[in-house]
Amino acid sequence: MTAPRSVTILGATGSVGRSTLDLIARHPEAYRVIALTANRDVAGLAEAARRVGASRAVVADSAALPALREALQGSGIAAEGGEEAVLAAAGSGADWTMAAIVGTAGLRPTMAALRGGRTVALANKESLVSAGALMTEAAKASGATLLPVDSEHNAVFQCFEAERPQAVRRIILTASGGPFRTRSLEEMRGMTPAQAVAHPNWSMGAKISVDSATLMNKGLELIEAYHLFPLEADAFDVVIHPQSVIHSLVEYVDGSVLAQLGAPDMRIPIAYTLAWPERMATPCERLDLVRIGSLAFEAPDLTRFPALGLARDALREGGAAPAILNAANEIAVASFLEGSIGFLDIASISAETLRCCTPPSPASVEEVLEIDREARAVADGVKRRYMR
Ligand code: NAD
Ligand code: MG
Repeated sequence: MTAPRSVTILGATGSVGRSTLDLIARHPEAYRVIALTANRDVAGLAEAARRVGASRAVVADSAALPALREALQGSGIAAEGGEEAVLAAAGSGADWTMAAIVGTAGLRPTMAALRGGRTVALANKESLVSAGALMTEAAKASGATLLPVDSEHNAVFQCFEAERPQAVRRIILTASGGPFRTRSLEEMRGMTPAQAVAHPNWSMGAKISVDSATLMNKGLELIEAYHLFPLEADAFDVVIHPQSVIHSLVEYVDGSVLAQLGAPDMRIPIAYTLAWPERMATPCERLDLVRIGSLAFEAPDLTRFPALGLARDALREGGAAPAILNAANEIAVASFLEGSIGFLDIASISAETLRCCTPPSPASVEEVLEIDREARAVADGVKRRYMR
């Protein structure tokens, strides 16, 4: 029997974090959990840490540390708090680290994990959007293996013949189209946060659910794909596929197209990264093509979903543009979820912020974080004009 793999989960209380814990709890002999981190969900973190027998549990918000200590009393699990403690957990030397913090907040922890030189399963797409080149360079320098968790990128990873990238002509990311796929612009104007987070196929955290409704998620994924796979920016396409059965496709120069299919359950791509380079059994629903009957495809509509076009522009422009777009979108989505701006304002605020900021290309993580702060301040100002 091989020794258990040591694992750390950054963002353990979120949707991806909980799916990862579910898989680990089903195979207790195969994994040893070193550290679990969360922002401030003490109850969720303590319960998870006890369930999988983690060595330590860390809250990013140090104000939540006393409550965490209390919740872990008698368990033998170390309780820690603060951003530095999250960074230390990320760099704790686990064989495998899940990077599943949402937003730019995940950038420094994900970098710390990459610098450790082991395997990093990456769900935190925002960090790759903002600092893609720096992250892939860090992985190269440390020898870390970066495995994509995002279902589309995981699908491409499974279909991409890494040893002959020149044989790949195109990568096609599929998109469900989100809950507003068939809605008019006029209808979308009045959509509420509850309607936007009600995704037809996937159950996910609030921020990415809103991103799926605007198609910003697919835009961020274009940029994510560009950093993960060595093709020109224009070789990445998006096709709307409402059933979310085909998770993405790779087209080769000879006309062959390889795709990965499966039920829309994040535990499948997570399991792929958790067991890599092996495969592990999961309790996920099996794909039943006869029951599904037929698969549909359509072109994305950039008039109703301008966020996708914005991300495409930011990818072509490069430099600081993706980091600015990502920061502006995070501000706008948070305001939409609070009820202070309308659904269509998310893309408008992102577009205006992108036009207002023109910093040079970031050369370090600190510079990315500086651009991120600056873009958030600009987006905050722009947002005021949209508030109701
Ligand atoms: P979520 O909101 O459900 O969970 C986010 C996690 O990050 C939580 O554990 C939270 O405590 C932690 N966190 C939030 N702010 C933090 C901070 N400032 N410092 C430290 N920790 C913080 O999000 P999710 O849906 O699990 O998504 C996580 C990431 O994975 C996102 O980047 C998302 O785009 C990506 N992703 C998610 C899915 C999905 O199915 N949910 C699919 C593909 C990619
Ligand atoms: Mg995805």
